[in-house]
Amino acid sequence: MNNPILLNGYTLSQKKNEDLKKILVKCPSLSLATILVGDDKASHIYVQAKIKACQNVGINPIPVFLSKDITEQELLKKIELLNNDSTVHGILVQLPLPDHLNSHKVLESINPKKDVDCFHPFNIGNLYAGVSDFAPATSVGIMMLLDSIREQWSIESKNVVIVGASNIVGKPTAMLLLQKEATITIAHKKTKNLKELCLTADLIIIAVGKVNLITKDMVRKGAVVIDVGMNRIQTEQGTKLVGDVDFENVKDQTFAITPVPKGVGPMTISALLYNLYFLYQQHYTKNNNDLR
Ligand code: NAP
Repeated sequence: MNNPILLNGYTLSQKKNEDLKKILVKCPSLSLATILVGDDKASHIYVQAKIKACQNVGINPIPVFLSKDITEQELLKKIELLNNDSTVHGILVQLPLPDHLNSHKVLESINPKKDVDCFHPFNIGNLYAGVSDFAPATSVGIMMLLDSIREQWSIESKNVVIVGASNIVGKPTAMLLLQKEATITIAHKKTKNLKELCLTADLIIIAVGKVNLITKDMVRKGAVVIDVGMNRIQTEQGTKLVGDVDFENVKDQTFAITPVPKGVGPMTISALLYNLYFLYQQHYTKNNNDLR
């Protein structure tokens, strides 16, 4: 078999960001408010990466750092202020929130027109109804990666197994792939015979958070494998980021595969920026410039 295509999300995201930068020059300056509650180290790193990505394409980031002790009412008030601020085009709340805050309630308080993460039930509902392809950023990033090989490999009629049924990755990705006329199975903790199921797949997408959950014997020859997992493991050289796929042993089996790092991760950030532009196009045009 030929060498697998390495779906390099780092290179693709740089290209996508350059394209977006050129488009944004022709728009009024867009702003993205990033709300971070508390001082979780990983969340800080993610938020900083989003802020930097905004700056790189000419989006104005509005960092909102709030104390871990903030009350739900205070947080909702802050979101209301951002909802009513016509200079703010997108709002995201970095998850997870501290335990005393109800994430569902908080996400529901964001104006759907500014819901850049696409976590609001209104936006998710439109995605699930098949009337919109606006979706959470990781799912959009995965579709961008698959689109980059559309000339060699098309989604239509493919059998897809998505391992992981979360609201932020597995389920919305299934909806986008369904819109592209693939046949989808979603696996989760209680799925039986995961290996046999994966062997039926033309495309495996894994988003679980377990090192080496997908091994060579689970992947059909010529399948495409997208690894969303992010696991930090300790090696003699220090901490290393790995996915959920036994990459070294699986890769030669595949038609195309994402590495970790430099796979889905950078695409998620790029897709977030495209989501902001999508919201601007949908809701902030000449005919409809009221974002409140
Ligand atoms: P999550 O909310 O914890 O969901 C994990 C899913 O995996 C659940 O549906 C769970 O099943 C399922 N699962 C757990 N163990 C399993 C097993 N042994 N076999 C089959 N399914 C199993 O996680 P998430 O937020 O979706 O994130 C998943 C991974 O993706 C994490 O490593 C995360 O860091 C990474 N991630 C990466 C990006 C990126 O941009 N690269 C973005 C988001 C997430 P149940 O539903 O039955 O509990």
